[in-house]
Amino acid sequence: MNRVVVIGGGAAGLMAAGFAAYYGADVKLLEKMHRVGRKLMITGKGRCNLANNCDIDAFMSNTPVNNKFLYSAINNFPPQDIIGFFEEQGLKTKTERGNRVFPVSDKASDVVDVMRRFAIKNGASIINSEVRAVKAENGAITGVATNDGFIPADRVIVATGGVSYTRTGSTGDGYKFARSLGHTVVAPKPSLVPLESPDNDCRRMQGLSLRNISLKITAKSGKTVYEDFGELLFTHFGISGPTVLSASCNMRDFSEGYVAHIDLKPALSPEQLDARILRDLSENINRDVSNSLSKLLPRKLIPVILDRWKISRDKKCNSVTREERRALVSLLKDFDVEIIRPRPIEEAIITSGGVKVSEINPKTMESKLVSGLYFAGEVIDVDAYTGGFNLMIAWSTGRLAGESSAYL
Ligand SMILES: Cc1cc2nc3c(=O)[nH]c(=O)nc-3n(C[C@H](O)[C@H](O)[C@H](O)COP(=O)(O)OP(=O)(O)OC[C@H]3O[C@@H](n4cnc5c(N)ncnc54)[C@H](O)[C@@H]3O)c2cc1C
Repeated sequence: MNRVVVIGGGAAGLMAAGFAAYYGADVKLLEKMHRVGRKLMITGKGRCNLANNCDIDAFMSNTPVNNKFLYSAINNFPPQDIIGFFEEQGLKTKTERGNRVFPVSDKASDVVDVMRRFAIKNGASIINSEVRAVKAENGAITGVATNDGFIPADRVIVATGGVSYTRTGSTGDGYKFARSLGHTVVAPKPSLVPLESPDNDCRRMQGLSLRNISLKITAKSGKTVYEDFGELLFTHFGISGPTVLSASCNMRDFSEGYVAHIDLKPALSPEQLDARILRDLSENINRDVSNSLSKLLPRKLIPVILDRWKISRDKKCNSVTREERRALVSLLKDFDVEIIRPRPIEEAIITSGGVKVSEINPKTMESKLVSGLYFAGEVIDVDAYTGGFNLMIAWSTGRLAGESSAYL
């Protein structure tokens, strides 16, 4: 019987421990926080978007970094099987917009309970202890040093997560363990992270959430790095919201900065928008232009648009020229916000970077450098967009590492 130590009781570690125990290993899961699943508890705004009800191709296209590495893991535990797994464990699920899967209860704590029970019922012991180092001799695992002493092991699964939201316990310890055993760690960077702007207009509009905008991000060279529709939020530091988080995955070099181009009226062509503005102006002939914008734009946006339009606030609607109308159309179709940097990694939903994938066997999650060492979850250099894909990475690599550690 293999003695397996799993480091980290997050999504990947709990899944790994449960499956390693199911397949007959003697499993100890070591978690340094007082409770397992602290990060899981805050996923999906406390509702836990635990999976995406999609096919493997969609999973791949929503995983922009090192998706090929995940091919075996996700085929071993495809999206529908992940959802089926939770249903079998007694967690009722529902599928929402964008194929996002949540517990019917809308409680992330139910997902944590199910995972804890799954690990324990298969025989894994969950121990509250912090791992300080992973030990190997002659290229093979011997055990782990913890703050409560040495624990011998034939297999060690490192499932310590990334370095964001450190209060949940993900403090980057796994990178230290991996490096000490000869692994390369691709520098951790924030991903799925809000973006900072020096533009005071963002501060002026803080709290304003725009549901149906189109966002395009260009590098200073003019190259488009991201384009999509969705929801955007102005904040005191810049911009956030689902489309912004997704965009950030594609922004790899901030040395020259980026520009966010926001189309505030993506459903209307420039001609249709011009006609709409003309209609609003003619309905308010003798009133100030600001009155004509109140039906078209949210209240917080109007003073900013008037300033950018460079038009006097008390200009009357009947005196707006065709050129001025066209300038307004351009402004609304391409509202620019300069981006200088992402928010700090602590505020990132996920950490990009991690243990280099070419040093891990994708069919087993075992290290190619140290026999008996495995990796699972966010500690690996893989990451995906929002929508349940990151947890699917954790579940699938966790299961594969758990199964392999028990069998091989
Ligand atoms: C605010 C927020 C919302 C999110 N929402 C979603 C969502 O809805 N859907 C989705 O798919 N993804 C979401 N994510 C991403 C997702 O939570 C992570 O990708 C996933 O939790 C990674 O799982 P993991 O098991 O690899 O790491 P983690 O969940 O970070 O778990 C790592 C565990 O290891 C423990 N640990 C670390 N070092 C040691 C040590 N030395 N000794 C012992 N234990 C240790 C930590 O305490 C922690 O419990 C969200 C992330 C955040 C921050």
